[in-house]
Amino acid sequence: MAGSRLSAAHRPLIRLGVAGWPVAHSLSPAMHNAALAAVGIAGWRYQRLPIPPELFDATVPALPGAGFRGINVTIPHKRAALALATHPTPRAAAIGAANTLVFEAGGEIRADNTDAPGLIAALPFSVAGRTALVLGAGGSARAVVWALLDAGAREVRVWNRTPERARELAADLGSAAVDRAEPADLLVNCTSVGLDSSQDAFKPLPLDADDVTSYECVVDLVYRDTETPLVHAARARRVRVVGGRELLVRQGALSFEQFTGEAAPIEIMRRAAGAR
Ligand code: NAP
Repeated sequence: MAGSRLSAAHRPLIRLGVAGWPVAHSLSPAMHNAALAAVGIAGWRYQRLPIPPELFDATVPALPGAGFRGINVTIPHKRAALALATHPTPRAAAIGAANTLVFEAGGEIRADNTDAPGLIAALPFSVAGRTALVLGAGGSARAVVWALLDAGAREVRVWNRTPERARELAADLGSAAVDRAEPADLLVNCTSVGLDSSQDAFKPLPLDADDVTSYECVVDLVYRDTETPLVHAARARRVRVVGGRELLVRQGALSFEQFTGEAAPIEIMRRAAGAR
């Protein structure tokens, strides 16, 4: 057990962290430090690692020497993180991005993408045989499309503001690009629309608030202090919702288990991240 091995006061601090640029507003430190405390792992700390893109490749291999056991990776480093890995999981390689790095002896770096299984774990029903519409064609959309297809979704359609990117993603992963929002069992917003509360909530998207009833469940990767317009529209119309904080918790829980070898205390992590 990690806790019993590492609780002696004289042992050096074992570090975990989240690398991003910017990363100041990340909820991961609160979530992981609460989890470490809850499972009784003393002497470990999870911290923010603000690393500019041009320094990522040089900084990350030096982290184990500074006491780091592993890191999460967020915007804009997920592709670069995969490229540094000596042992990527098949899903990280297929998605083309990693959000979890674990440092092993001898300079080995294991890389995984827990965004994908985190999404599947957060959904209220199995997607096997079901249909989905994914909005967006950036890094998180790649993980989401891959995860849905891997979990047996019958059809995954992708819409993006820049259609060529949707076509490219669809061709890479075996889904279909579309130029309008079609009804499906699941709607997943992987664009950053909704992040900025001063912007028009729906205008850039190919649907409006009433269209959310065309979906059995709406997932919004975006989270902010207040409910996002998409989540608000879905809740108001009694459509099932999975919010961005729940996804954050689910991917974080899977990363925590890889870092520590301990079962993640999901409810504690949920509370620390402000997820419901
Ligand atoms: P990304 O790679 O930068 O992709 C951004 C996506 O948003 C692209 O599809 C882009 O379309 C679209 N977009 C940006 N501004 C838009 C606008 N005004 N109108 C329409 N589409 C717009 O980012 P990402 O990593 O995929 O992340 C996307 C969002 O998910 C971010 O808000 C991020 O914080 C959130 N996220 C949350 C979690 C979680 O755990 N909850 C995990 C990962 C990401 P174009 O191709 O046309 O530019």
